[in-house]
Amino acid sequence: MKKRSSIVALFACVLGVVALVLAGCGGGGSTESSSTSSTNESAATSTKGSYTLVKDGTLTCVSELGFAPFEYLEAGSTEPIGYDIDVANEIAKRLGLSCSFLPSQDFDSLVPTIKEGGKADIAIAGITISDDRAKEIDFSDPYFESNLALIVKSDSKETAETLNAKDKKVACQTGTTGDAWIEENLPDAEKVPLTDISAGLAGVSTGSYDAYVVDLPVAKKNLSDSFTDLTILEEIATGEQYGIAVSKNNPELTKAINGALAEMQSDGTLQKIWDKWMVEADVPEE
Ligand code: GLN
Repeated sequence: MKKRSSIVALFACVLGVVALVLAGCGGGGSTESSSTSSTNESAATSTKGSYTLVKDGTLTCVSELGFAPFEYLEAGSTEPIGYDIDVANEIAKRLGLSCSFLPSQDFDSLVPTIKEGGKADIAIAGITISDDRAKEIDFSDPYFESNLALIVKSDSKETAETLNAKDKKVACQTGTTGDAWIEENLPDAEKVPLTDISAGLAGVSTGSYDAYVVDLPVAKKNLSDSFTDLTILEEIATGEQYGIAVSKNNPELTKAINGALAEMQSDGTLQKIWDKWMVEADVPEE
């Protein structure tokens, strides 16, 4: 059917993009597992094939753990799970490292944490590669392509046009691409930036907000698991690409991660992780 084939086409396109991007860096991908635990100034001047780690032998990761299906905690658990968690674990394994996640942080603190250094080696959190962010940190090659979704209550009569009005409240996660999209495309609406996605979606359910903007796979997962009274009004085709954030002082780590990602793309591991976590859901067609 049309919907099915468009989903398949999208997936093929996503894989194509990843394959294309990764193809250029597969060859000599360093999978050097040795590292130094030095955190002094020499850490900033890594030599080829070596990188620095906050904790020797461990890839220390930081994320915002409220972004299902990419990274989240199940009720009562402190063990992060999701697409990005599997990707990080697989990268660590291929670099001969163990993988550990720090406690969840607000999304807009992740890039500053990596820039500042000393706490985590990478941030992996469905972070869209952007020029502004790339001024602060380095990104790995893209490992996922995404769009945004405009979410409303199922019985809502709103459209993207009617939402652009002074008396409409449109919520998002602070500092995200959804936040930027509202600013650009619904300039007349009142934007409500919040730290927590579930709280924002709950607010749409109860009528506190008229709409919510978030990454499409996250919308699909949340709407099918918990917010069955909400619907995707529109898919916003931003075609954004997720990258892993690494300090600009640690270019060899970025190279090693890119080598691992290229392997994971060509041996089908990324596809397996995709199949494990991505949720299908109805999205209105144009
Ligand atoms: N991909 C979006 C961004 O980078 C949202 C990420 C998130 O909320 N974890 O802004």
